[in-house]
Amino acid sequence: MLDLAIIGGGPAGLSAGLYATRGGLKEVVMFEKGMPGGQITSSSELENYPGVAEVKSGFDFMIPWQEQCFRFGLKHEMKEVKRVERKDKHFVVIFNDDSSVEAKSVIVATGGSPKRSGINGEDTYWGKGVSSCATCDGFFYKNKEVAVLGGGDTALEESIHLAKICSKVTLIHRRNEFRASPVTVERLKKESKIEVLTPYEITEICGDNSGVNGLKIKNLENGNQSELSIAGIFVLIGYNINNSVLQQTDGSMLCEVNQYGNAKVNLKMETNVPGLFIAGDLREDSPKQVVCAASDGAIAALSVLEYIEHTK
Ligand SMILES: Cc1cc2nc3c(=O)[nH]c(=O)nc-3n(C[C@H](O)[C@H](O)[C@H](O)COP(=O)(O)OP(=O)(O)OC[C@H]3O[C@@H](n4cnc5c(N)ncnc54)[C@H](O)[C@@H]3O)c2cc1C
Repeated sequence: MLDLAIIGGGPAGLSAGLYATRGGLKEVVMFEKGMPGGQITSSSELENYPGVAEVKSGFDFMIPWQEQCFRFGLKHEMKEVKRVERKDKHFVVIFNDDSSVEAKSVIVATGGSPKRSGINGEDTYWGKGVSSCATCDGFFYKNKEVAVLGGGDTALEESIHLAKICSKVTLIHRRNEFRASPVTVERLKKESKIEVLTPYEITEICGDNSGVNGLKIKNLENGNQSELSIAGIFVLIGYNINNSVLQQTDGSMLCEVNQYGNAKVNLKMETNVPGLFIAGDLREDSPKQVVCAASDGAIAALSVLEYIEHTK
């Protein structure tokens, strides 16, 4: 039986692996369905990880993380986990091919991914002017004009954040009403640098070799089409949570989750199920940043060490 099964090999899973193996756990395996590194490997530039002054691609940034973990004895298996079940006082990790392994403790760090809009040009310019994270990329557009697509809390809050950095923010939403909370809508209205276009849709994201330079937009009330000159577009229309491994055969979830599907944890990354820990973007209220996911992973692993010691 494994001491610890880590599911997901992004910043949270790798950081958990480092702390668990350096903390003395012998049988620690990280199950990752693809190459380790997580969603940040799709980013062309990462410049906000403290202590790393050099701007690197997410892929290059994550390579030493794996090397460091494997040096301390973390084992990695390229396997997709279908489900985690509780059995007596331990866990069964079931894979897509229906094979399984038992573990005394589990850290689920399967993260998620931002939803894409499917608008023409989005894939072409993803990472070259199209972004899903204002905290990550807002600074690249200092004193430039940008647009935000979306109508929920994240879109409005990120617009307010961007208005403090950019010269102008155009918020585009296909309905007249926002899904965001009334308090956030009121805060948005006070921002003089934000222009709101509703009900509008983006029909194309335009650009050239250096990236995005404009949008084609359509007024959904009168059908009028126009163009907007911007340096970047933030697509903030939602987030896919990778929580399927927590889903049981009867449809219930292995641990408590909130209305969005994010797992509820305390400050030790403990769920309501003893021995089950969640780290990174999957947890409730995650700031969805590499540094935060790494911190979650370290905390979860330290909690596992304590848990294993107490249940001996
Ligand atoms: C384009 C882009 C740019 C970003 N830029 C920045 C930035 O500049 N700065 C910053 O701090 N953050 C940035 N982020 C956010 C950052 O990448 C995430 O906050 C961070 O990666 C979350 O780490 P995680 O380990 O929780 O999850 P993830 O990175 O999502 O890793 C989860 C891993 O679990 C694996 N997995 C999922 N399901 C299963 C399963 N069933 N079985 C096995 N494996 C599974 C996935 O393959 C993945 O490798 C960016 C994100 C994106 C998409």
